[in-house]
Amino acid sequence: MAKRDYYEVLGVSKSASKEEIKKAYRKVALKYHPDRNPDNPEAEEKFKEAAEAYEVLSDENKKARYDRFGHAGVGGAGGRGGFGGGGMSMDDIMDNFGDIFGDFFGGGGGFSGGFGGGQRASRNAGRGSNLRVRVKLTLEDIAVGTTKKIKVNKHNTCQPCGGSGAKDGTAHSTCSTCGGRGMVARVSNTILGRMQTTSTCPACKGGGKTITTKCTTCAGEGRSFGKETIEIEIPAGVSEGIQLSMTGKGNAGERGGPPGDLIIGIEEVPHDSLMRDGQNVVYNLHLNFADAALGTSVEVPTLGGKAKIKIPSGTQGGKVFRLRGKGLPSVNGYGTGDQLVGVNIWTPKTLSKEDKRLLEQMRGSENFEPNPSKSEKGFFDRMKDWMGG
Ligand SMILES: [Zn+2]
Ligand SMILES: [Zn+2]
Repeated sequence: MAKRDYYEVLGVSKSASKEEIKKAYRKVALKYHPDRNPDNPEAEEKFKEAAEAYEVLSDENKKARYDRFGHAGVGGAGGRGGFGGGGMSMDDIMDNFGDIFGDFFGGGGGFSGGFGGGQRASRNAGRGSNLRVRVKLTLEDIAVGTTKKIKVNKHNTCQPCGGSGAKDGTAHSTCSTCGGRGMVARVSNTILGRMQTTSTCPACKGGGKTITTKCTTCAGEGRSFGKETIEIEIPAGVSEGIQLSMTGKGNAGERGGPPGDLIIGIEEVPHDSLMRDGQNVVYNLHLNFADAALGTSVEVPTLGGKAKIKIPSGTQGGKVFRLRGKGLPSVNGYGTGDQLVGVNIWTPKTLSKEDKRLLEQMRGSENFEPNPSKSEKGFFDRMKDWMGG
């Protein structure tokens, strides 16, 4: 889309004074302000367009470049100062021109709140960092979900000052380094001309305010480092490598800045007898030869306690029994896996004289001659079935 002429956007002539430009911008910005035009994308576009025009026309250098080269002189690489390549976001506008609205919205708070003065600029000031923890879970934990209490060392909001960093009752004053904007501008000379970049004010860390008297507990930082116990709710069905995050449970921000998030890495503790395969769990059952031939009933461990399985007579090694619903639930809540019980026939490694005599007798019986039927699956087919769940 072709960009409109900045003078046209603000409705001023090329010879307009700085004061006239500011006035014109206020008028347009007020008309299209999102607080007055809720859910109106067209108004938001116009509002952003006006901010962009004002950003250029209110800056002598940018205005001069624009007058000479048009949009090409102020757009593209580096030309847009601290705003990056793309269009300005609402946050950018509020962060950089918030003071203008402060004037006519009665110093903030006049409209719906967040948009006035420096309030908006401090939104992301001094944000706490994310905190990473690892949680070890057994398959039993994962089967039903669990709550883990873990102790972590982290920055916590200072209680006496409530995170403000100011001694109780004392006020904040406007930061003298940045004049309350939370940003400082740096002008440098380059081959393309004078370029202005803006960055977070180092004195107030973007908050736009400095503390008159510091809180003695936290020395003005608004937070203190210490142990905290955090309760983490783990949903059923999670798996190794999954990351959960709890918004706002990370490190407290500086001077009331927003907290970071808690990022939870899941570690699976290997189970004694069950092996996970996606949502299924696999159990290796060892049957002695007599039980497999005669049939029996055995108990196998499952994630929910013991379960009984009837072993029919003539059970072959490699047979897989399926215990429906005894696996793990999906983390999205759709369905539950099964427990697969694979049969291994145990061959005795030592034999008594009597054992030997009986086995010698059986060896001669024609029933002991292997005679698999066509329908009986071979080893490779069973492996395929097993893998496929
Ligand atoms: Zn400052
Ligand atoms: Zn404090």
